[in-house]
Amino acid sequence: MTANRDDLFIDGRWIAPRSGEKVEVIEAATEKPLGKAALGSHADIDLAVDAARRALSGSWASYTAAERATVLDRIGAALKSRGRDTAALVSRENGMPISLSKGANGYAPALMFSYYAKLIRDYPTSEVRPSDFRGRSVVTRQPVGVVAAITPWNYPQGLAAMKLAPALAAGCTVVLKPSPETALDAFVFAEAALEAGLPAGVLNIVPGGRESGAHLVAHPGVDKVAFTGSTDAGRAIGELCGRLLRPVTLELGGKSAAIITESADLDDFARNLPEVSLANNGQTCHASTRILAPRNRYDDVVEMVTETVRSLTVGDPLDKATAIGPLVSAAQRDRVLAMIEDGRSAGYRITTGGGIPAAHTKGWFVEPTVFSGVDNSARIAQDEIFGPVLVIIGYADEDEAVRITNDSVYGLGGTVWTTDEQHGLDLAARVESGTVGVNYYALDMAAPFGGIKASGLGRELGPEGLTPYFTLKSVYLGTDGSRP
Ligand code: NAD
Repeated sequence: MTANRDDLFIDGRWIAPRSGEKVEVIEAATEKPLGKAALGSHADIDLAVDAARRALSGSWASYTAAERATVLDRIGAALKSRGRDTAALVSRENGMPISLSKGANGYAPALMFSYYAKLIRDYPTSEVRPSDFRGRSVVTRQPVGVVAAITPWNYPQGLAAMKLAPALAAGCTVVLKPSPETALDAFVFAEAALEAGLPAGVLNIVPGGRESGAHLVAHPGVDKVAFTGSTDAGRAIGELCGRLLRPVTLELGGKSAAIITESADLDDFARNLPEVSLANNGQTCHASTRILAPRNRYDDVVEMVTETVRSLTVGDPLDKATAIGPLVSAAQRDRVLAMIEDGRSAGYRITTGGGIPAAHTKGWFVEPTVFSGVDNSARIAQDEIFGPVLVIIGYADEDEAVRITNDSVYGLGGTVWTTDEQHGLDLAARVESGTVGVNYYALDMAAPFGGIKASGLGRELGPEGLTPYFTLKSVYLGTDGSRP
């Protein structure tokens, strides 16, 4: 796998960017250049959308669902064979510990392609419904068309695969616009597409910044937008799509809560805390970063969370012993440090962390940090920090725990910790959120994932993740033999 990516992937070919523009991707742990990647300008986006439009009515349109599934399986296999290298590349780009990256970037994307390949093989794309009036209707699911897929840098491979796999399974064509921060790894999908024999133009990859993304969203050749990123960008995209009456799915930010009930096994929570609350150095949209502790166990929870977080190994993301790597960029580190400062100056107690680790002044590291005694109205409890920062909030009873949990503009993830599973389910039902975990949290490929409130619109994954890539057509048949 080369470090530099000089060309964009458009119409099944490697094409130099019209503008000649490139981004230097910097290694998060060392601040050294990792490689240069081609960036797409408006002209490149235009070429990519044109290619995707042509491909929509080209040979791809005649592929049966089973034929598309075969191509998807081949893409999955090609991604899997590159998984180890891809995982390491992403860890170097964005600082994700390799222990997480090997699953999230190295393996999960291949699984998503095989999941949607399997699903589409048996998916009912056409059915005949008898009419209550007379005759009958043929209801057909058709590919929605050209998809603009826009992804962030935090889980670049998994989040792209969550869009590409169902879009291709449905028969759509795609222009993928990845973030500049992780532009290098995105082209692995191009290699996989070529190896799998995906027809030219069905998948196009044009990394770029905000401007390119906005140009793509507004492009008249785009039929549907699938976006993952910040709530601010999601709102801008949603407004534009509203004006254009263009279907859009939005996977946005979060500020989820872990409700520790009175019956919770604190050792169990401590074991899972790094994955559930601090995955990817806290750069995880669904992380349970607000820890809600019952008042009568408050001190125990603070001690347990503090000790667990203090014991985490901070360091080289490529070392499999590392739990916390650097943040993606200097800007992200500075944002997180400013949020820590905000909490400190508001008078909240830092029980561990609070700055740049003394052993890691090179690279964009931030110490894993815990605030205790936090009021849910504090900025550090309301704003998505997107770094390794947890806040502990006390509650008197479960009604208050639910009220605090739901007192957030977001509603994406969350967890409930209890030794009574039914009680966990009952509490989870009261949490205003698209997804909740009881005694753990995982993105289950078979279940819809997405947020409510400011966390987004629509769902990805599961069979529900396929439906946004279809449009429905009803053909009414007036002559069904029942007429005289
Ligand atoms: P971001 O919104 O700055 O950028 C995300 C992507 O959108 C990038 O490719 C960017 O170039 C593009 N973009 C930005 N503004 C745009 C616009 N107006 N029009 C079109 N494209 C635009 O987000 P980020 O900093 O890269 O990612 C972090 C954010 O993503 C966090 O808020 C996180 O919670 C969220 N996120 C959500 C999920 C989810 O599934 N809900 C998953 C991962 C990350």
